[in-house]
Amino acid sequence: MKLDAKALRYMSSEDFRVLTSVEMGSKNHEVVPTSLIAQIAQLRHGGSHKIVGELAKRKLIARVQNAKYDGYRLTYGGYDYLALKTFSKRGSVYSVGNQIGVGKESDIYIVANEDDEQLVLKLQRLGRVSFRTIKSKRDYLQKRKSASWMYMSRLAAMKEFAFMKVLYENGFPVPEPIDLSRHCVVMELIDAFPLRQVDEVANPAQLYSDLMDLIVKLAQHGLIHGDFNEFNILIKDTGKPILIDFPQMVSTSHANAEYYFNRDVECIRVFFKRRFGYESLLYPKFTKHIEKEFDLDIQVAASGFTKKHQEELDEYREALGENEGEEDSDVEADDDTEDEEEGSETDSNRKEMTEEEKAEERLRNLRLGNDLSDDEEH
Ligand code: ADP
Ligand code: MG
Repeated sequence: MKLDAKALRYMSSEDFRVLTSVEMGSKNHEVVPTSLIAQIAQLRHGGSHKIVGELAKRKLIARVQNAKYDGYRLTYGGYDYLALKTFSKRGSVYSVGNQIGVGKESDIYIVANEDDEQLVLKLQRLGRVSFRTIKSKRDYLQKRKSASWMYMSRLAAMKEFAFMKVLYENGFPVPEPIDLSRHCVVMELIDAFPLRQVDEVANPAQLYSDLMDLIVKLAQHGLIHGDFNEFNILIKDTGKPILIDFPQMVSTSHANAEYYFNRDVECIRVFFKRRFGYESLLYPKFTKHIEKEFDLDIQVAASGFTKKHQEELDEYREALGENEGEEDSDVEADDDTEDEEEGSETDSNRKEMTEEEKAEERLRNLRLGNDLSDDEEH
C-alpha cells in the first residue's frame, strides 16, 4: 500500500469535509450509506454526491454494494490521508519522503516536520490479512464487533505510542515518540542500522551483555518486548543499541510471560552464535524473583491504552494465529475510527474546531433531530 502524499495537496475543504464524514459514519456502519454521508457533511444541494464520486475515483473511499443498501467505506488511502492531515495541522509532518520499510503489518516512511527535521512515520496495516477468513473460522466478528482493520490498526498504533512514550520517559534506549493519529505514529529517526545488517561489531561480548541487560531491565519494569530480534534492534555508530517496534509487548504478569521472556533471550543467543560466533554461558532466566523496580505497565494503562484495548488486540492476534499464511486484501471496515475522544463540545464559540469535531457535532445534532439512536455504538 503506497502512501500518496500528493493527495494531501490537492484537496478542497469540502472534499475533506466529506471524507471526514465517511470516517464518522464508519463508527457505526460497516458500509456508510450514501445518504448518511450527505447528512453528516451537510453540503448544499447534494454537493456531497459529486465529491463522494471523486473521492472514490481517487481511492480514498470505496463503493460497496451491500445487500440492503449502497454505500462507501474508507480505504487505507483515505485513512492515511486523514492521519497525515492531522499531523500536518499539528506541524509534526510537513512532507513525506522515501519508504524505508515494509513489514507484514506496517509501512515505514521518512518524513520531515516544519523545521525540516527528519522523522519516521509508521503506519499500521493490520488488515493485510483477511478478516473474512478470521470471521468464518472463529465467529470472530460476532464476539468483537469492532474487529475492523481500521480499529485494530489504530489500537496497534496507540499501543506502540503508549509503550514508546513510557519507555522513553524512563530512560530506555528507544526513539522519541512525537505524535499519534489514528493508525499512525511519528517518531524520532534513529541514525543507525538494524543489527540484522551488521556483519561485525568491535566487541560482541559487550553488545551481548548490553542487550541481555536491556531484557532484564525491561522485566524489572514489568515488561517483555516480545519480538526482541535483530530486526528490531538498531545499532548506532557508537555501538549503542536502540530498541524499536512495540505493538506486541507483554506484561511480566502475562500468563505466558516466561515463554516470551525466554524467547527474547533465545533470539539473541542464537543470533550471536550464528553471526558473530559468540556464545556465553551467561544468560538471564525468567523467574518470579526478578526484582521489580516498578510497573510501567500501569503507566501505559494510564496513558489511555487500557486493559480492554489490550484484550481486543490479543484476541485479534489469537484469531490471526490460526490463519497465518492466508493473505489477501479482503478487508472490511466497520466501527470506531475516531482519533481524539474528546468530551461533548457543542459550543461553537470555543477555539477553532477541527473538521473531525465539526463532523461529530453535525452527527450529534443529527441524532438529536432524527431518530438515529439505534445506530449508537455497542
Ligand atoms: P515492523 O512492525 O514492520 O517490523 P518496525 O518498527 O520494526 O516495523 O520497523 C521496520 C524497519 O524500519 C526497522 O527494521 C528499521 O529498519 C526501520 N525503522 C523503524 N523505525 C525506525 C526509526 N525510528 N529510526 C530508524 N529506522 C527505523
Ligand atoms: Mg520490526
